[in-house]
This record gives sequence, C-alpha cells and structure tokens, in this order.
Amino acid sequence: MIVVIKIGGAAGINQNLTGLANDLKSLVDAGNQILLIHGGSAEVDALGERLGVPMRYITSPSGVRSRYTDSATMEVFIMAMAGRVNTELVRQLQVVGVKAVGITAISGGMFYGERKTAIRSVEGSKVKLIRDDLSATLTSVDTALVEHLLAGGYLPVVCPLVLAQGGEVCNIDADRAAAALATALRADQLILLSNVPGLLEDVSNPSSLIRCIRVGEAESYEEIASAGMKKKLAAAVAAVRSGVKRAVIADGRVEAPATRAIRSEGTVVTP
Ligand code: ADP
Repeated sequence: MIVVIKIGGAAGINQNLTGLANDLKSLVDAGNQILLIHGGSAEVDALGERLGVPMRYITSPSGVRSRYTDSATMEVFIMAMAGRVNTELVRQLQVVGVKAVGITAISGGMFYGERKTAIRSVEGSKVKLIRDDLSATLTSVDTALVEHLLAGGYLPVVCPLVLAQGGEVCNIDADRAAAALATALRADQLILLSNVPGLLEDVSNPSSLIRCIRVGEAESYEEIASAGMKKKLAAAVAAVRSGVKRAVIADGRVEAPATRAIRSEGTVVTP
C-alpha cells in the first residue's frame, strides 16, 4: 500500500515523534511504501521570534488563515522547515532503523508553481491587497524522485516548498501539498495527522468526532471547520475527488498514530 502521511506542526514538532517513527517502522517493515510530508508552523514562529523577525498571518475573505510570507519570513521559514523540522524527522526515523531521506519539494523538480501576485487580506472592515507574499499555487507535481526513493526502500521526508516560474522559492499549504502528492502518487491513503482526534462537531469536545464523510456531502461539514481544519478538510476532499482511495484526518498525539488512522480512527473521507 502507498500511504502519504502529513504531520502537522502547529503544536510543535516534538510531540510524539518517537511514537510516529516506531509506527512508520512497523508499516515499512510490513511492506508499505510511506511518504512523510510535514508542517512546522510552531517551529517557524519560534525561530522568527529568536531571530527578531515578527511573524504575521493573513485571513482571506473566505476565512482561511495563512502565513504572510515576505522575503525575511521566507528565510526563517526555510531555516526552520527544511532545516530543523526536516532534519529532526529524518533523525528520529533513522534512530528506529527507517532509511529516511529528507528533501524539499523543489528537489528533482517535484513541485512547480505559480506565485500569487496579489492576495486579499481582511483587516478589520477592509480588504487589503498584499503583493509581496511568497506563496504559490501548485501547477505541476513530478513524483519521479520520490518514486525512485520508494522503490529503493527509502522513506522520503518532504518539506513543502515550491519553485515558482520566476525562480523564487515559495510557501505552499502543507495539507494541500500532501493531497497533491498523494494524488500524483496514486496513493491508497492520505493521512493528515494533527493535534485533534479528527474533524469535531464541537471543537471544544474531543468526543464529538465525525467518523465518516462522503465527498459528496463534504460541503455540509465546511461550516464547523475553522482555521487549519478548514484546509485539512478541503485537502482530504480534493485528494479523494482526484482518485486517492481515502483520506483520514486523525490524531498525531496517540501511540501508533498512522496505524490507528489506517484502522479508521479519525475522520475518514471516502468517495
Ligand atoms: P496542523 O499544524 O496539525 O496542520 P492546524 O492548526 O492547521 O494544525 O489545524 C488543526 C486545528 O484546527 C486544531 O488544533 C483545532 O484548533 C482547529 N479546528 C477548527 N475547527 C475544528 C473542528 N471542527 N474540529 C477539529 N479541529 C478544528
């Protein structure tokens, strides 16, 4: 089975990494091909603070919050994501005996994109246009490099960066990037691990988990998801609509998080 797993970074990367690494080891030993892609927003924020680069966020008119990535922020982003977070994941995997290879998604021409030249940001009652943001939408995904790695028995650990036509390295939403990779790899499963049990009917009540969503009825769930969960649900739905057999939004903090997600513990999105 080909499984693309995205690990979130809002709560910090060090949560339960040993548990995840041991879990991935057993999945790889069982003959699965696993690709790990990561977020890392808490690490980016923390490094920005240490370096004196203030981090800012933008809220789109449709209510989606994202990082405002000007060139100073981009430098911090690359240092934290491609540096510390990616290396720490590879280290943890190697420690438990998984042959892990850390790459960014600009390696081998994996992700090309189109830089967003103007993005709309809601500030109070006004909508402002921001023109110096280094984020991009994906225009092409080439999986040749990761397929080589998977065929060789390696577990790729992918940092979601994208190369824009102008040659700039840009930011891309990690959930969307995971969905695009899962689609291009024709993955059997996309697993989005976060710091909640899945999509919750009531975000303050962890036992209000929504267990199964068919893509056709996903729209009716959009309202209850805010912030990062909105992007996760959209990514899960997009992947399943494009041919991934199923996507699971699940808890990354538990013992054996990926195995539990594969066993449907979480919110399962199906065709
Ligand atoms: P990650 O770094 O894991 O991608 P995000 O912060 O982007 O995490 O998204 C997960 C967050 O989404 C949760 O911590 C939670 O606060 C928020 N959220 C908003 N609405 C919901 C919901 N309905 N169910 C679960 N989580 C939700």
